[in-house]
Amino acid sequence: MTQETGGFAALDLNPNIVAAVLATGYEEPSAIQQQSIPIILAGHDMIGQAQTGTGKTAAFALPILNKIDVSKREPQALILAPTRELALQVATAFETYAKQMPGVNVVAVYGGAPMGPQLRAIRNGAQIVVATPGRLCDHLRRDEKVLSTVQYLVLDEADEMLKLGFMDDLEVIFDAIPASRQTVLFSATLPSSIRSIAERHLREPKHVKIQSKTQTVTAIDQAHLMVHADQKIPAVLRLLEVEEFDALIAFVRTKQATLDLAAALEAKGYKAAALNGDIAQNQRERVIDSLKDGRLDIVVATDVAARGLDVPRITHVFNVDMPYDPESYVHRIGRTGRAGRDGRALLLVTPRERRMLQVIERVTGQKVAEARLPNAQAVLDARIKKLTSSLAPLVAEAEATHGELFDRLTADLGCSARALASALLRKATNGQALDLAAVEREQPLVPSFAPRGERAERGERTERSDRGDRGDRERRAPMPLAEGRVRCRTALGARDGIAAKNLLGAILNEGGLARDAIGRIQVRDSFSLIELPEDGLEKLLSKLKDTRVAGKQLKLRRYRED
Ligand code: ADP
Ligand code: MG
Repeated sequence: MTQETGGFAALDLNPNIVAAVLATGYEEPSAIQQQSIPIILAGHDMIGQAQTGTGKTAAFALPILNKIDVSKREPQALILAPTRELALQVATAFETYAKQMPGVNVVAVYGGAPMGPQLRAIRNGAQIVVATPGRLCDHLRRDEKVLSTVQYLVLDEADEMLKLGFMDDLEVIFDAIPASRQTVLFSATLPSSIRSIAERHLREPKHVKIQSKTQTVTAIDQAHLMVHADQKIPAVLRLLEVEEFDALIAFVRTKQATLDLAAALEAKGYKAAALNGDIAQNQRERVIDSLKDGRLDIVVATDVAARGLDVPRITHVFNVDMPYDPESYVHRIGRTGRAGRDGRALLLVTPRERRMLQVIERVTGQKVAEARLPNAQAVLDARIKKLTSSLAPLVAEAEATHGELFDRLTADLGCSARALASALLRKATNGQALDLAAVEREQPLVPSFAPRGERAERGERTERSDRGDRGDRERRAPMPLAEGRVRCRTALGARDGIAAKNLLGAILNEGGLARDAIGRIQVRDSFSLIELPEDGLEKLLSKLKDTRVAGKQLKLRRYRED
């Protein structure tokens, strides 16, 4: 009827469904929706293959809503999803799309919540059941007839369900649903286990395949940075200074790493939280809600904890630790660039992981360009830009409210306007480094790597020889010392298992220095250099006389350069 309803309206869906979909802000059906909806409406079984973020939920939810008989108050459609989060997400999507269809009831069935109310909701007339396989089987054990009226079965994220070990449960569920049903299976990948399920349980399925690149990956600007493993946190902190992000998800491999990075971010004033498998389900949901509504800006997550996380605010994905395989890389970065928005994905690569980067590039068919860590100048520019934009709106108005006070203060203090403004600036910026030397001093860790081309010529090398290299490069171009600083040397180095953070920790704890009193720390293979304040050096060295790091005596000495 109207012009802008063209895409969805042309799909032969009930006008109430089309209206609800347009009301959610969708303009056009996505590729998988465009192709799947007519097939499902026509009653065919179907296998849909598409990456995350391509809009698979509406691809099955809209035609199924179109098919159910609202006047019958019994389960007609069953959607299986791998996790509680995804089940809830799909159930919510159904409710959204059914907003203008009175009488549609959706129930989500998952573990970790009492079974009684779920079963009652099914019996009380829900036409659509969205379930995780494990919990659904529990219900089947109590009431084997609970699914006997189901006519439409959807397996959403089938590959994930198999990875989570739901194979046997799926077989039980297939057996509990009338054979006359229509079955639709969606999956990002089609390993042989899925093909074999399809062969046994689907009837002459139609295939729909959307190339992953078309949606997910191209809208995302990808880059990688070379860093050493022990420099990841400072690297992330520095990147955050210059990246303009709205919300960001950082992926790491371990629970401990989620906690460490989240703590480091919070200490820098970011609104950050950890998300890992140890965190109780309801707390996890709270974290995701906070990320959605802006109470949090950064979530540091493991892959498992972030499964199904869909927050449109996410502009950036940081792969702080390498994903385990290229598929999970695609899955991770699919957390940004949702529904065609632009996104940015950064991948930190340690020397050892270089090969994994190549595998990712091969599988995604895209080059992940190399980026450099921002230098002190870039960090400074970003800080000043932020300061400027935070002041801009005040400049227009503050004079009216605070101009007189300003005059009075300059008179009382007997100082120039510039002097007073400078004092206020210092106060407002709260000790933040805002000149080049100070920013440089603040960033003692300088991950520096030869660009890819140079390295390739030198061939493969191990992490240790990479460190050696780095030492050479630094020796050739010694870093100038900041004023009032001296270099100290210890015979402990990388080969003793020492990382910069160990040295930093030891000196902070036992030397009683402030963090910013310690300058650059360079860990080489057989020794390390640390920049310390010249003032009070003797006292400091004697305090550290018996300090041990990694079980060995630190024996810090002033280092005289020739
Ligand atoms: P998938 O299941 O393929 O990972 P989803 O169904 O979760 O993808 O959809 C991803 C995001 O895209 C969701 O935020 C959804 O609301 C949005 N979306 C889906 N279809 C459309 C569309 N046609 N237009 C705009 N946004 C859409
Ligand atoms: Mg999905």
